[in-house]
Amino acid sequence: MHTLSIRQLSEGLRARKFSARELTQHFLKRIEQHDKKLNSFITVTAERALTQADAADARLAKGEGGPLTAPLLGIPLAQKDIFCTRGVKTSCGSKMLDTFVAPYDATVVRRLHRDAGAVLLGKCNMDEFAMGSSSETSGYGPVKNPWDLTRVPGGSSGGSAACVAAGLAPAATATDTGGSVRQPAALTGLTGIKPTYGRVSRYGMVAFASSLDQAGVIARSAEDAAWVLQVMAGFDPLDSTSVDRPVDNWIGSLDRPIEGLKIGLPKEYFAEGLAAGPRRCIEAAVAELKKLGATVREISLPHSPLSVPTYYVVAPAEASSNLARYDGVRYGHRAADVQTLEELYKRSRGEGFGAEVQRRIMMGTYVLSHGYYDAYYLKAQKVRKLIYEDFRRAFETVDVVLGPTATDVAFKLGAKTDDPVAMYLNDIYTIAANLAGIPALSLPCGFVEGLPVGLQLMGNFFDEGRLLNVAHQYQRVTDWHARLPGAFT
Ligand code: GLN
Repeated sequence: MHTLSIRQLSEGLRARKFSARELTQHFLKRIEQHDKKLNSFITVTAERALTQADAADARLAKGEGGPLTAPLLGIPLAQKDIFCTRGVKTSCGSKMLDTFVAPYDATVVRRLHRDAGAVLLGKCNMDEFAMGSSSETSGYGPVKNPWDLTRVPGGSSGGSAACVAAGLAPAATATDTGGSVRQPAALTGLTGIKPTYGRVSRYGMVAFASSLDQAGVIARSAEDAAWVLQVMAGFDPLDSTSVDRPVDNWIGSLDRPIEGLKIGLPKEYFAEGLAAGPRRCIEAAVAELKKLGATVREISLPHSPLSVPTYYVVAPAEASSNLARYDGVRYGHRAADVQTLEELYKRSRGEGFGAEVQRRIMMGTYVLSHGYYDAYYLKAQKVRKLIYEDFRRAFETVDVVLGPTATDVAFKLGAKTDDPVAMYLNDIYTIAANLAGIPALSLPCGFVEGLPVGLQLMGNFFDEGRLLNVAHQYQRVTDWHARLPGAFT
């Protein structure tokens, strides 16, 4: 059952080939068998999952379900542990929130599990507060890559990626502030989409950098991703940055031919820095898309080399403000045996936050401080506008922008933990889409020495339907996405 697509699972449920309970039990068993090797879950919600599965079976018995009305009814999913889930521990990968049980559901959780009837398998491991590119900053130990257990699965949504790649869940939610949906998807051979900023509600999603954070999906194919995103997306009055605009029928537009599609290849994305193996895979994928009728031209995104430094001013600045709420007073870890209020703040935050989170808070506080604000924060906002303008110009002549997702395949655990800048450079190809607010998708396009390579497609605002369509058409003629790592078949 773990090799079937979500569409096939939904058809199987409706035809009573298997029940939602049997399907849920299958995935819970796989989690139990395999997750010790991967550490992809922080919490497994087995009991709740079976209750939800029974409720789904009752609805299925009444004839509910199917792509048009209830595509995810009875489908098991995993949630990144950044989404508040009522009655369930929501740690955001941090010891700061180790004892936090969310009193309400994030809109994403409500839509998927309460309204649509998807079954919650558990909450996925992640970099602490989504800060990282390898899932090694988690307060719950690192996640391993199912393709090679000595390597990272990417991050920050490494748990979401690892559990889906190993067939422990059909799909998982993830979030992307600078690449955290796409880079882990790339490093584990999956399809991940970060929609347009504002497309999916951020209500109940623990905030990292609010002007960049966006929820997305990591799945085994573009089709599966479309099925999940279709339910997650849409206006939410509880999120002031949510966009009040109808959601297109993404599932329905997957089958459109891509004849005449105009693809732009930014020369900055194919400069030095991209490893030779992945480059060859991406070039072969471009040739495949041409065979499907696409045309290709070189474009330039001249400010893209500035995206990493810009992001590392904007994101920490917003993070330092968002994380001020964890003070040991209102909620979060509270240090024991303190004498003064100052000591309470210092010790609670010092004990609760890991090194990377503390580094970001210090960077962010610095760039926002009096005397440095204009030099750093204001300047970064100006460069951000230029990066946005690059894309605006590009989409006047092309439909999608294509490039690599990551510079190379998955690296070894520990290889970059002592070098924050090397870690930050992981996201050199993904960050620009967050700064501009546009949708972007990563899909598998080959293997280098047994490790998956990701290809990135970026689209114009609200054009996620086209990204899913192009990826689906490519996946109809290739099978990179259909492979399962040997140890998890
Ligand atoms: N790796 C980037 C960071 O550490 C992006 C993380 C993310 O998208 N959440 O900030």
